[in-house]
Amino acid sequence: MSLPLQSISGLRKQLTSGDIQPGDILDALVESIESTNGTIGAYLSYDLEGAKQEANKADLSQPLGGIPIAIKDNINVKGQPCTCGSKFLDGAYNAPYDATVISKLRQAGAIPFGRANMDEFAMGSTTESSALGTTCNPSDTTRTPGGSSGGSAAAVASRCAIAALGSDTGGSIRQPASHCGVVGLKPSYGRVSRYGLVAFASSLDQIGPLTHNVEDAALMLNAMCGYDTSDSTSLEQDVPDFTRGLDQGVAGMKLGLPKEYFGEGIDPAVRKQIDQAIAGLESAGAEMVEISLPHTEYAVATYYIIAPAEASSNLSRFDGVRYGNRAEKPDDILDLYRRSREQGFGPEVKRRIILGTYVLSSGYYDAYYNRAQKVRTLIRQDFQNAYQNVDAILSPVTPSAAPLLGADKDNPLQQYLADIYTISANLAGICGISVPCGTITSETGSQLPVGLQILGPHMGEKKILQVARASEIQSGH
Ligand code: GLN
Repeated sequence: MSLPLQSISGLRKQLTSGDIQPGDILDALVESIESTNGTIGAYLSYDLEGAKQEANKADLSQPLGGIPIAIKDNINVKGQPCTCGSKFLDGAYNAPYDATVISKLRQAGAIPFGRANMDEFAMGSTTESSALGTTCNPSDTTRTPGGSSGGSAAAVASRCAIAALGSDTGGSIRQPASHCGVVGLKPSYGRVSRYGLVAFASSLDQIGPLTHNVEDAALMLNAMCGYDTSDSTSLEQDVPDFTRGLDQGVAGMKLGLPKEYFGEGIDPAVRKQIDQAIAGLESAGAEMVEISLPHTEYAVATYYIIAPAEASSNLSRFDGVRYGNRAEKPDDILDLYRRSREQGFGPEVKRRIILGTYVLSSGYYDAYYNRAQKVRTLIRQDFQNAYQNVDAILSPVTPSAAPLLGADKDNPLQQYLADIYTISANLAGICGISVPCGTITSETGSQLPVGLQILGPHMGEKKILQVARASEIQSGH
């Protein structure tokens, strides 16, 4: 076995001391991907030759110099395919430009080299809605890796990537991170430019890192964020060094436990791991405070109105003319649109488009979309009120560990309900992180990872990283 693929920080030390070369990392990655990707299916495609050439030129003085990164297949990397896990774009689109995050990662010396599988257009929670392949959970290959950034999480967890990018519209970074036992960070809305991310729901989407540990998440965020004139929703805010103060601990911090997140519906085995993580942070000096986020019960309904509404509009560009594979021998232009969309989109995407079009249609707009926007404001206010008294909020990421492949495939409602702990953060625009806190034993004896979610106020990334680092130390990860 060549070089063990570990964290960015670990490899960077070896690179800067001259013990290893970027090419050694690529060699190890090739070996790992060739032996593992066939089983796990984390990648849809990769360009290791191109990456090797870039590695030879890597500027090692940069903070991510020589580090190859896996990219969710909905983020544009110039010259590489960007399928969004959809038949519609498969073989029909190569990115003509780099997304802003990609340019920034390149400036920091990183090498984006592979395309990670995902739920089609990021709609889903298991990566099973991908039309282009199955991804399994590296901890138990009979189970899903979570989703929609399941390929990114599985790549990192199976050591087929050192770090990856995902996107989070309703939990799609944090939830697969939790299921695969890696760290996943959803930045605050506006922190990271969305330019070059194929939009799902523009008011909710954020790009974020999936990494082996909390320090790596901070290193990635350092490189990724900042104001971008190409994204009008990116914020003009100073970018702190997120690695500074990471080890300051939680002594004296007040951490909120929302009573609505600890009620019915959590698997007791998951609850036990979360309780232990909470006890760990308490023993590290944090004070736990019970809080209430009273509009939590409306979050799933609100999200599943707003997200499909925005999706139905964003996905109108996939018509076989502007983007996507075109149906053959159309009778006329309408027939071309209709059949291209019929053939290109999978069932979950169609369900969202139909739902979104319905809630936006005249006659229903006020009853659904407008009302959902009002409830969204109430959810945001719940968090603002909570952060008057606490520094961050702790909760589970999901009610249960990774489901078996196929288990919820025909039960979309069941899947939607499992998003309960993650989607409020997107509705409120705040930041959140999932950090591994333990495992539970499945019926077959496999060890299934469980993540602790730490939610911070808008632009509170420094604080949640600090809490996550403290939890990582306490739980021995
Ligand atoms: N599971 C949620 C959905 O299906 C979240 C997806 C996401 O964050 N991209 O919409």
